[in-house]
Order: sequence, then structure tokens, then C-alpha cells
Amino acid sequence: MDTVDVLVVGAGLAGLRTATLLAQQGHDVLLAERRPGLAGAIRTTGIFVRRTLDDFPLPAECLGPPIRRVVLYPPGLGGPVTLVSERDEYRVGDMAPIYVKAAAAAADVGVRIMLGTRYNGRQGQIHTLVGRTGTSRVRARFVVGADGARSRVARDLGLDRNRHLLIGAEEVYEIPGGEEPPTFHCVLDPSLAPGYLAWVVNDGRHAHVGTAGYANRFPDGLRRALERFASAAPGLEGVQRPDGSDAIERRGGPIPVGGLLRRISCADGVLVGDAAGAVSPLTAGGLDPCLRLSELAADVLDEALRSGRKDALTHFDGAALRSRFRGRLAMRWGLDRVRTPAVAAAALALLRTTLGQAAARRVLFGDRSFPTTP
Ligand SMILES: Cc1cc2nc3c(=O)[nH]c(=O)nc-3n(C[C@H](O)[C@H](O)[C@H](O)COP(=O)(O)OP(=O)(O)OC[C@H]3O[C@@H](n4cnc5c(N)ncnc54)[C@H](O)[C@@H]3O)c2cc1C
Repeated sequence: MDTVDVLVVGAGLAGLRTATLLAQQGHDVLLAERRPGLAGAIRTTGIFVRRTLDDFPLPAECLGPPIRRVVLYPPGLGGPVTLVSERDEYRVGDMAPIYVKAAAAAADVGVRIMLGTRYNGRQGQIHTLVGRTGTSRVRARFVVGADGARSRVARDLGLDRNRHLLIGAEEVYEIPGGEEPPTFHCVLDPSLAPGYLAWVVNDGRHAHVGTAGYANRFPDGLRRALERFASAAPGLEGVQRPDGSDAIERRGGPIPVGGLLRRISCADGVLVGDAAGAVSPLTAGGLDPCLRLSELAADVLDEALRSGRKDALTHFDGAALRSRFRGRLAMRWGLDRVRTPAVAAAALALLRTTLGQAAARRVLFGDRSFPTTP
């Protein structure tokens, strides 16, 4: 049986980051990912906010042009509100090469990566992995659940699990550069995106057309909502949607919006990224939180491995960090209540006021990222 210091389950950005940091600190790390390759089955639009771009080494050649302009629309798309920042706010990542490069960097520092390998349970320190060649067992001192919003590791460790989830879906295709500056279009319409927003990101290279909301509140299902939205989405004037489905990449998945979970560690391991609920409850952005929480996780695991004291993991306390989410949770509560077109139109009207615009600018351009201290 293989024996390692840490088994990381899931090679999204959270798992890759945690595994890399631990291996850099000299620990023996095995990373198991059920997808056969990291360039497929992508579950994110890949919008990186300014603070992430400032603080993390993302490969510049994999980032789209900077976006400064956000346009917010009511149902029916009439009378949108445009907000323009004085600085670059977002860039959309080309996610397939970003994951592949992050995996190569992890392997370079010694992480052993097993693709096409599903974590399938644990008994004490013995973890079961099911791969192409059958079932194997790995003894690990600690396990990291980086296995996404519906984490099996969280369940097996008896930790908290995400209960408040949106589901999202989008289509992505290449576009020729147009006249419009790179723009993020957001539509507040509960029939298309119940409890959230429908979006178009047009950065002059790719169009991302998507929607997300509560699964049980889409009037005719998520897929149909996306079709309806895509047929009349804003921000794509003059853009020809490709005919053949080969030219359109489809992405989708659950998004936890209940805020960081309280119990994200125990003596045997920790949760990071979506598994820990590390997503902004309001914007549903999870890329910055998953990178920041992974750094905290790697620090406490390093301490536990070096000192041999499992109680070092109690410092990885979701309840303490969660208190910093109060404002965002309150705004999520408000967004949940936008249930009719009339309420959505009224909310948009507020954004035409000075106060409303200031609030929107704080959310969209505010540099508020994931809190890393309670
Ligand atoms: C449609 C959509 C659009 C989004 N857009 C944005 C955005 O633009 N900007 C932003 O900041 N956030 C966005 N988010 C949220 C963001 O993508 C996530 O918060 C972030 O990617 C989470 O990373 P992660 O590593 O925790 O999880 P994931 O990227 O989901 O990785 C989890 C990995 O674990 C693997 N796995 C699961 N179970 C097992 C198992 N049993 N064994 C082995 N492997 C397993 C999965 O295959 C997956 O690779 C979006 C989410 C969705 C659904």
C-alpha cells in the first residue's frame, strides 16, 4: 500500500494550489482527480477579479483582455445601467491551459497526480481510490477535500456540507474582436436566473453566455432558461453564434452560496474551495476564495505534519472566518427575494440612484475578496 503525508482529492484550482504548496514545503503529496484530463469538463466561467490577478501567479498568456465595463439590465433589457471602472477589474481565464499548467507546476515540485482516479471512501487513514486499473488503497496522515460543492470527503470526515446551492450553466465560443470594449453584461431577471443573474462576458476573444439560479425555481428548467437567454442575449450585436455544436463549449455545475461552512477541519483533514463553501454568497465568485483558503489550509497542514500534532488543524476554523461574510450573506438574502420581474425592475431602478450606484460599485469594483483572518 502506498503511504503519503497528504492525499488531496480533486484537481480544481483549490486542490492544485494546496497540493503544490504542501509539496513545496517538502511533504509527500498524492493528488487524485476523477476527470481523465484537466482540460475537459470545466465548471467555471473563469472570471478572475483584480485582487486575484495581483496576488497569484496566473499565466498571463492564458488571460483575456482586461475588463472595466459592467452593464446591468432589468427584465426585457430596457434602460440598462452602465458602470465603468477607472482601472482594470476582471480578466477571463482560458481555463483549460490554466489547469494544465497548474498541474505541471504541481508535478514539478513533486506532487504525484493520478488522473481518472476517484476517491471512494476511507477507513481511518486508509483511503480507497478507484482508477482505470482498478481499486487501490492509500494510507495518508491527512486528507484534503478539494472535491467541489458536493464533497464526498466532507461527508466521510463528518464535516459540514453545502446545502444552499445554485446551479449554473454557460456556453462559450470564440468571437472576432468587435467595436465594443470588453464588457461584462448582467441581467437581473428571475425567470431566466432565479436568485442570481444571467450573464454575457464579451472580452473581444470569447463570448460566455450563461445563467444560474435555484434549481427548483427555473420556470422551465436550467437548460431551457439558457436557451431562451442565449437566443436574445445582450452584448453580442453583430456576433454570429456558431452553428455546429463542436464550436460551442458547454460548462455547468453547482455553486455553493450559503457562505463558508463552519466545520471545515477535524483531526484527519480539511476542506478547501467549494467543498468548504468558500464562495462569495453574493457574487458567486469562488476562484479568489479557493486560492486564499488553500494557502491557509497548507499552512495548518504544514504545522500539523511538522509538529506531529493533529490539533494544529483546529486553527482552520470556518466559523471564525464566516463571521466576516455577514454583509454578503445579507445581500444574498436580498437577491433571493427578487422573485418577480417587477421587483427586479425596481431593484435595477435603485441602481440609477447615486446611493445605488455607489453600492453597486463597491460590490463590483470593491477589492473585497475572501477574508483570511477572522
Ligand atoms: C457555471 C459556473 C461559472 C462560474 N464562474 C465563476 C467565475 O467566473 N469566477 C469565479 O470566481 N467563480 C466562478 N464560479 C465558481 C468557481 O468556479 C468555483 O468556486 C471554483 O472553481 C472552485 O474550485 P474548486 O477547486 O474548489 O472546485 P472544482 O473546480 O469544482 O474542482 C473539484 C474537483 O474535484 C474533482 N472531484 C470531485 N469528486 C471527486 C472524487 N470523488 N474523486 C476525485 N476527484 C473528485 C472534480 O472532478 C473537480 O475537478 C463558477 C461556477 C460555475 C458552476
